[in-house]
Amino acid sequence: MHPLTSIFLAFLAAHVAVQLWLARRQVAFVAAQRGYVPPAFAGTVTPEEHAKAADYTVAKQRLGMLEVVFEATLLLWLTLGGGIVRIQALAGSLGAPPLVSATLLVLGVFAVIALLSLPFGIYRTFVLEQRFGFNRTTPAVYAADLAKGWILGLLLGGAVTAGVLWIMSSLGGKWWIAGWLAWTAFTLMLTWAWPRVIAPIFNKFQPLEDPALRSRIDALLERCGFHTKGVFVMDGSRRSSHGNAYFTGLGREKRIVFFDTLLSRLAPPQIESVLAHELAHFRLKHVPQRIAVGALASLAGFALLGWLAKQAWFYPGLGVPSGSDAAALVLFLLVAPAFTWLLSPAAAAWSRRHEYQADAFAAVYSDATSLAQALVALYRDNASTLTPDPVHSAFYDSHPPPAARIERLNLLRQTAAVTAATT
Ligand SMILES: [Zn+2]
Repeated sequence: MHPLTSIFLAFLAAHVAVQLWLARRQVAFVAAQRGYVPPAFAGTVTPEEHAKAADYTVAKQRLGMLEVVFEATLLLWLTLGGGIVRIQALAGSLGAPPLVSATLLVLGVFAVIALLSLPFGIYRTFVLEQRFGFNRTTPAVYAADLAKGWILGLLLGGAVTAGVLWIMSSLGGKWWIAGWLAWTAFTLMLTWAWPRVIAPIFNKFQPLEDPALRSRIDALLERCGFHTKGVFVMDGSRRSSHGNAYFTGLGREKRIVFFDTLLSRLAPPQIESVLAHELAHFRLKHVPQRIAVGALASLAGFALLGWLAKQAWFYPGLGVPSGSDAAALVLFLLVAPAFTWLLSPAAAAWSRRHEYQADAFAAVYSDATSLAQALVALYRDNASTLTPDPVHSAFYDSHPPPAARIERLNLLRQTAAVTAATT
């Protein structure tokens, strides 16, 4: 066997084994705690709500385990099983100019993945989310979302793929520097344009009208020295009853977006504290840090791709007999996750650190008690488990476990009370 084939298979097998092992741990841990509401939530989450969160978590993990096996099988078929070679032959048989058939190969591979993964998406929305009372999507809305998503993917994905492939074929050995610059410009432009151009294709955004809430939010923005184009309400209830809030855009296009499902469930002081947490990610420079780390990671990726594309062994080692720019690009995109998963615990830990910092910021600029209440309400209404397996959580979770987060907020509240009493 080719050495690269052995290495790829070993890393992929390890990834599948670790994912399944962690999922089984999570299922066992959550199921074992199903009948026992943690003391910190005893007054706010009922035993029925806690049991529902456990069942929902277990059902999602089980589906996730099936997806892990499916995705690994699909990856093996595309690479060593000759799937890419077949798609390449199909794309080449159309007689299009070389750049067009090269772009078609890359788009074709991702179209095959999207099509074959479709049953999982449908099952998730119309069976799993439905069973737990979260789904509000109709088949018509779902089909329209898919069509819009695919057209958008074809246009944006096609443009950026053609651009990178053109740079690869025209700029010689150091192409990857130009490729990285073009990619970074593309992602920044997309982030900037998202709220104004792309998000409205899928949802309606209305300026927040409630005058009392609006003045509370304006006062918070003023306290934090934050400037934004606007505060919007999104019709999230059209698809799901899960609630959320987020920031979007860059520079002057920054927007605050609340799901209508969140506004309908939280009291104004709680909404303010959630917003203060989100503002913290900007004020504490978490967002630019993430953009910078993302840009450095993609620079490393492009440099590695630039080197691998020139190695004759790269292609046959992954099931493609003859090399080309498009084959290099698509193999790299497909196979990289079999190696990069080793970094995910570090990325998750970094994110959890930011979450604690943002909670502490919200405790100062808004109120720790309100934030704790808001978090409990969101955990409860979204049926998030209060008792994740510690190892599963350490490996994947971008947010700290609920009990740890609430405990930290209670400490912050006590410290604030002591400070207030002594001054
Ligand atoms: Zn956060």
